[in-house]
Amino acid sequence: MSGFEGMIGWSCDFCKKSGLLVSAAGIIYCPNCHKSYGEQIELGLVKPEYIDHYGIDSLPSLIIASRTKADCFVTSNQAMLKDRDMLERIFKIKIRTPDELLNEKPGCEKD
Ligand SMILES: [Zn+2]
Repeated sequence: MSGFEGMIGWSCDFCKKSGLLVSAAGIIYCPNCHKSYGEQIELGLVKPEYIDHYGIDSLPSLIIASRTKADCFVTSNQAMLKDRDMLERIFKIKIRTPDELLNEKPGCEKD
């Protein structure tokens, strides 16, 4: 194991234990049953910059927001914002900056 490794708050779908990890390559995997979630959510397309420059928060938070079917993900991570269109497609969630949210950019309204 090398480079970044961060814990995210999910429980494993397979062994039901909590504590899934995300690797530097953006692959989510379970340290208990060693099941990889890589193909399932197409994280191979996701760049390490989404994590490296901003700590462990940005990418795992986006994934969690996507899995919980949140309306919107708010970030000021420039690497993520640059690839926003792609990330929105992959994770099926709208990505907004804090400013855009304050200015109520269309598409991220509350129900
Ligand atoms: Zn597991």
